[in-house]
Amino acid sequence: SLSTLTWTDCLDRIYAHNDKINAFVSIQDKAVLDSPNKQLGEDTPLNNMPIAVKDNFCTSTLPTTCGSNMLKDFMSPYDATVVDLMSQAGAKLIGKTNMDEFGMGSANIYSDSGAVKNPWDYKSNHTALDDPSLVRVAGGSSGGSAAAVAMNMCSVALGSDTGGSVRLPAAYCGVVGFKPSYGQISRTGLVAYANSLDTVGLLGQSVQDISTVYNVISRYDEKDPTSIPVDLRTKIVDQENELFQNWQVSASGDLSGLRVGIPNEYYVDQLSSEVLDTWRNGIQSLRDRGASIVPVSLLHTKYALPAYYIIALAEASSNLARFDGVRYGHHSQNASGTDLIYADTRAEGFGSEVQRRILLGTHVLTAGTYESHFLPAQQARRMIVNDFNKVFLPKNNLIRNDTATLGGDVPQQVHVLLTPSSISTAPTLQDSLPTQSKDNHGVVDAYVNDVMTVPASLAGLPAITIPFGRSATNGYPIGLQLIGQYGYDRFLLDISARIE
Ligand code: GLN
Repeated sequence: SLSTLTWTDCLDRIYAHNDKINAFVSIQDKAVLDSPNKQLGEDTPLNNMPIAVKDNFCTSTLPTTCGSNMLKDFMSPYDATVVDLMSQAGAKLIGKTNMDEFGMGSANIYSDSGAVKNPWDYKSNHTALDDPSLVRVAGGSSGGSAAAVAMNMCSVALGSDTGGSVRLPAAYCGVVGFKPSYGQISRTGLVAYANSLDTVGLLGQSVQDISTVYNVISRYDEKDPTSIPVDLRTKIVDQENELFQNWQVSASGDLSGLRVGIPNEYYVDQLSSEVLDTWRNGIQSLRDRGASIVPVSLLHTKYALPAYYIIALAEASSNLARFDGVRYGHHSQNASGTDLIYADTRAEGFGSEVQRRILLGTHVLTAGTYESHFLPAQQARRMIVNDFNKVFLPKNNLIRNDTATLGGDVPQQVHVLLTPSSISTAPTLQDSLPTQSKDNHGVVDAYVNDVMTVPASLAGLPAITIPFGRSATNGYPIGLQLIGQYGYDRFLLDISARIE
């Protein structure tokens, strides 16, 4: 059902609880919310809907910090395309949400504004959130957006999803989190992390809330060169309609005709038994409702995590070169000579995880490592895309689907895939903080939390986290992920609405 929260209620809840949760890094003025939106359109489907936006979307009315000291007081001169579109549709921007610095993290502990705390226990009985061995993380990097939705501090929140940053915190906080296909929603005004992977994602309490906002912001944008062109959008809508016509959909909730793939390779060692149980229950409940369950194989899945952390960091090292202390953002006051402004500014402006990633990303792009790491990662990415194309019934409109590309015989095919969204429930803050060991083991170990979400990111596919159950041991929520073929976002949302 559609959210009926009002912005005044949300504002009250933010003022009452944000100190504890740390979901918002800036809150909109009541006067701004009270006055009519500047470029209100004729059609206003988001009529006064309170919406929060991750702090890496440019906004002209609130600062845009990206969770970084580098952009501590940065005010953007313009609004991101998505912010404009929502405002024209009548939405109210209630505030900007906390995040891992520049989107780099899975626990939302790497923020210049401090960690976001998981509101799951707090929201019903206002439990204390001081003990790091008990408090759980909200997940990252869009942890503020997930926590804000879970706390009813907004109806829908925008996040960005490069490798799982919307789907993972959604799973940890017990809300719905949707990553659209790459290019579906404009990235103009979204500060880049890894531009071949970055997508605008949505978080909400229900699929319907998310679909309502998605329908407003899923538009071609001439200012974004990676935006899916209008003719391809039209072509895919036709294909989706055809799919729905050929498929007898009767009463809502009935899933007969739907073919759901279960990829073997997502059954990894690190998967906790509670998540595995939820995955099994999810499979059974879809089967009970008439869906055909099809075991499938995505052979190159094991390369996804290493490939992701090579490609994402290589792109990040290049994207973040713009923060030089000259054009905007932090400017070092301590620099002892002109040639040190750049180095001192970056040493002071960026946090440790961002610095580590810039160094790794620069390293994989240097001669030698380029051949040994970067190119194999790109090849792995291509193989992962092909794996998905082999199992999906709908064709990928971006590539030629002849047998040469697919490599021979076509196995059993499916409409969507069902996997876990995470390997465990939300870890504690204490377990998420990097250990002081000199090999930085804790830091790299944390990357495994993304193992369920990065394959769809590498392939640019739409994927959604739906809350599916709770842990029998700690009571925290568990989410499952549905993945669809490239461009079939509406189809995936439609299926998700029947399943949630
Ligand atoms: N945790 C992943 C990373 O740190 C994904 C982050 C994201 O999607 N922005 O790169």
